[in-house]
Amino acid sequence: MKNCSTDVLIVGAGPTGLFLSNLLASHHIKNILIEKNSSTVKEPRAVSIDDESLRVIQSLGLINL
Ligand SMILES: Cc1cc2nc3c(=O)[nH]c(=O)nc-3n(C[C@H](O)[C@H](O)[C@H](O)COP(=O)(O)OP(=O)(O)OC[C@H]3O[C@@H](n4cnc5c(N)ncnc54)[C@H](O)[C@@H]3O)c2cc1C
Repeated sequence: MKNCSTDVLIVGAGPTGLFLSNLLASHHIKNILIEKNSSTVKEPRAVSIDDESLRVIQSLGLINL
């Protein structure tokens, strides 16, 4: 990537970075998400999730409760 412009640069594609990137995109805010690893983590981690996190996921339209 030589020249690029963005409104927000997010470093790290963990849950925080991925949610933030989706949230910004849903508000039409340009963002670039970079991750040092070649993929997201392989092991499942969503054993439990709290109500606040569910509300954020729902606000992105990713679940319909
Ligand atoms: C085995 C396990 C099970 C879990 N189960 C649950 C669960 O059931 N429910 C729950 O709510 N939480 C669970 N967690 C905790 C949850 O995974 C963390 O709270 C969550 O991953 C934190 O998200 P984050 O995006 O803040 O950080 P991280 O997930 O740590 O993501 C940070 C990302 O930034 C990247 N990064 C770091 N430095 C750089 C750099 N300099 N340049 C580019 N990229 C960089 C890293 O590679 C990483 O991908 C679990 C954790 C583990 C280990």
